[in-house]
Amino acid sequence: SQTRFVMDFSRKIDVHAFTLADPYRVVLDIPQVTFQLSPKGGENGRGLIKAFRFGLVMQGGSRVVFDLAKPARIEKAFVVDATDGAPARLVLDLAATDREAFLRRIALENKLTRTDLPRPNGPEAKSEDSRPLVVLDPGHGGIDTGTKGPAGEEEKDIVLNFAQRLRDRIEKSGKYRVLMTRSDDTFVPLGNRVRIARDAGAALFVSIHADSLPRGEGDAQGASIYTLSETATDTEAARLAEKENRADVIAGVDLKSEPDDVAGILIDLAERETKSLSVQFAHKLAGEMKAVTRLHKTALKSAGFRVLRAPDVPSALVELGYVSNRQDLQSLLSETWRNRTADSIAQA
Ligand code: ZN
Repeated sequence: SQTRFVMDFSRKIDVHAFTLADPYRVVLDIPQVTFQLSPKGGENGRGLIKAFRFGLVMQGGSRVVFDLAKPARIEKAFVVDATDGAPARLVLDLAATDREAFLRRIALENKLTRTDLPRPNGPEAKSEDSRPLVVLDPGHGGIDTGTKGPAGEEEKDIVLNFAQRLRDRIEKSGKYRVLMTRSDDTFVPLGNRVRIARDAGAALFVSIHADSLPRGEGDAQGASIYTLSETATDTEAARLAEKENRADVIAGVDLKSEPDDVAGILIDLAERETKSLSVQFAHKLAGEMKAVTRLHKTALKSAGFRVLRAPDVPSALVELGYVSNRQDLQSLLSETWRNRTADSIAQA
């Protein structure tokens, strides 16, 4: 019925603790720290804590997210000073509660924490430069590693490296400006990625990912290009969208906290035009990419990806290949393949 979690630090830090529902979670926001913990250290919890994960969620901010075995309330969350050679210690006391009490508390807490949610990149300063803006969105980052290859290769690293190459190539053409939703290993909530593109007045949004199939589910291969649709083209596309959309759950960001800043009938009109531009771009992209790399047998698909939801920015999501496939993984890690493929996307 009660669980205490402690974590030692080299010096005293501030801590902000709050809860999230469905699934039941407790989140600790702390300043940016270097976690000297085994990455798997939080996989097995005990008591009220089923598991926990930790990482950098933004410049200057780290986070620990606890998955709870059942609803619990935060009894105490504080840090005691280092004394007599003992390190500073963070203490989190949890006590079991019922669902109703848990939700009531959240309603109160969220009022405060929602406004605390940072906007990692904020709106860009208005530029004098009138060249069209391309926003590149390397998937995942920070606490959210994305999918993993057999030797632990992480999607977040593969796609960041790729997006940086792509940025350099597009910029070199001189025709476009490029903005990245992240340019380092930082967690960026899905809604913020969309907002970054909208706030900056992007002409095009391209999200970069890599896929994988679980062991025993066959061996898919090749790149795919996705556009937004409420109804997925097939179960495979639906599965992928659900997996990619989990990023915010992984970092403990409450999905409902993303403000809906545009509404009404205008969205509907804008969406129709945006959708047709998105699909046009996806075709063009497939045409360029297939000249230099293997595409998946159904290369053009659609599903409900949250990062593709800007009603007024044409958007596509590229899955560069499958880290679960040996040949694809080899490509994804190859300089030559990366350069060639980035060239083809820049061309599109
Ligand atoms: Zn991904």
